[in-house]
Amino acid sequence: MNGTRTIGFIGLGHMGGPMAANLVKAGHQVLGYDLMPELLDQAVGNGVTAAGSAAQAVATADVVITMLPAGRHVLGLYRDEGLLAAARPGTLFVDCSTIDVADARAAHEAAVAAGMRALDAPVSGGVVGAEAGTLTFMAGGGGTEFDEADALLAVMGKKAVHCGGPGAGQAAKICNNMILGISMIAVSEAFVLGESLGLSHQALFDVASTASGQCWALTVNCPVPGPVPASPANRDYRPGFAAPLMAKDLGLAASAARAGGVPTELGLKAAELYAAYAEADGTDQDFSGIVTTMRQRTAEGGGEA
Ligand code: NAD
Repeated sequence: MNGTRTIGFIGLGHMGGPMAANLVKAGHQVLGYDLMPELLDQAVGNGVTAAGSAAQAVATADVVITMLPAGRHVLGLYRDEGLLAAARPGTLFVDCSTIDVADARAAHEAAVAAGMRALDAPVSGGVVGAEAGTLTFMAGGGGTEFDEADALLAVMGKKAVHCGGPGAGQAAKICNNMILGISMIAVSEAFVLGESLGLSHQALFDVASTASGQCWALTVNCPVPGPVPASPANRDYRPGFAAPLMAKDLGLAASAARAGGVPTELGLKAAELYAAYAEADGTDQDFSGIVTTMRQRTAEGGGEA
């Protein structure tokens, strides 16, 4: 894809807002829409042109990008609210939301049936990555569509991987985040067990970060304050990657595992633990804050077999 593109951008929240702003900075024309007028105003401040509706945002677009909460929002817009019907034939629809793999496939099918082209391209990297233009995209769909979207993804991110056909981007996203959720629980349990054994956080970190326990949850997002100064644990677990988003992604992995009959025992347990944490103390905390509930349960004598 060469030159300036006209982009319809729907969903200008925590992620979509800065992503749209980066597209404007790179010289693209962005027609934006969000149900929340204050977010639309904020986007206009960043150079986005406000559309009066989602349909209006896509009517003249070469590429449509959606960054919405869940599959029902994407399918609702694509099918029920007539977004596909409002675009020019052949328009490329890139959904960057994190949604169920089955919903992503249904969105592809609906787009193709309406004479459009589609790509699922969920992201990792959070709000910080969206603002800095350093997201990682995991894409599913045709190679031609991926190649066409690549120049735009390169504006919003530092890396884009074509994972396979429709839904493959969402599959990669939930598999990656299942690893992350399980490994954060493992690291947190190790710190709490270490505490009960009189082991300092720094000693365990110094060993595990250079031994076989090494992983991102330990070395970048360390759940205890001290060893990694930039980790959310040093700022009262302000996100970062919020616990409800981890709970959501693990829920998507769990439903995919159940649908496919795959016995992801730790993934299901992680989904259960994060759902409980996200509904209680973790509502507005980084997902690494789950360590505090483990410490609490230990104090309450909940560690017995
Ligand atoms: P958000 O709630 O801040 O933004 C979503 C926006 O979509 C909201 O502003 C909402 O008003 C808008 N919206 C919903 N339905 C709409 C409709 N019909 N028409 C127009 N606008 C509509 O959420 P977010 O944090 O930006 O996350 C967006 C997606 O990215 C989610 O799927 C999330 O799982 C994923 N994600 C988020 C993060 C993160 O750190 N926030 C990281 C990776 C992936």
